[in-house]
Amino acid sequence: MRGFKLKKLTGFPAECKMCGHCCVQTKVILSPFDIFAIAVHLKTSAARLFTEKILTYSINTTTYWMEPVINNKNDKEICPFLMRQQDKYLCRLYNNRPFVCRISPLAYSCENNAFFRSAIAEKRCYPYQPLTVISVSRYLKKNNSKKAVKKNYKYRLLLKKIIDKGYTLKKIVNKPAAKKNFFRIQQLLYETCPADPLTEKKYPFKKIKKYINSFPAVTQ
Ligand code: SF4
Ligand code: SF4
Repeated sequence: MRGFKLKKLTGFPAECKMCGHCCVQTKVILSPFDIFAIAVHLKTSAARLFTEKILTYSINTTTYWMEPVINNKNDKEICPFLMRQQDKYLCRLYNNRPFVCRISPLAYSCENNAFFRSAIAEKRCYPYQPLTVISVSRYLKKNNSKKAVKKNYKYRLLLKKIIDKGYTLKKIVNKPAAKKNFFRIQQLLYETCPADPLTEKKYPFKKIKKYINSFPAVTQ
């Protein structure tokens, strides 16, 4: 699998102590696979996650794409899925938690398709953790993240293609047709599946990708 440029994590906080620190003031960027899993977990549709403001969008200031995120716009910017149980903080989505939560405090760079260490994320864990040495591959396996890595990679490749075609907030200004396509692509990717969480079992990535690839490039 591509993206494993970082091989070994030395002095790494590899055991989660359920302190909940990483679920506060954190932007959880989602893939369509994450959205699908959250909707199925909550027995709702992807569209409702947005209309009920459980999820929202955040502008990526590098790519000018609108990234779907968990809406933590409350007083303390706490993830709405964080819950307290005695002295532990648990994730309501645990088995279906998003990719970025699954690999935390490790982080992933989409641009380079590689894993990297985030000092800020690790600092949140340090007071609670025995530091250890672990390979990236083992860490991902331990967190049941290997499939999520593959899915995330497929999605990020598609997203790069969409952005390279000119579908960014900057390039669609004053172009009504491109603007319409931009929001249609957003909707197709993030808000369409599942429509029925009880019958749909898998995010239909191939089908959606084929459809999105048929959209024309934004003209200059
Ligand atoms: S900050 Fe670290 S130890 Fe605390 S919940 Fe997050 S991953 Fe676990
Ligand atoms: S989804 Fe779960 S793990 Fe991720 S930030 Fe929210 S509570 Fe934390």
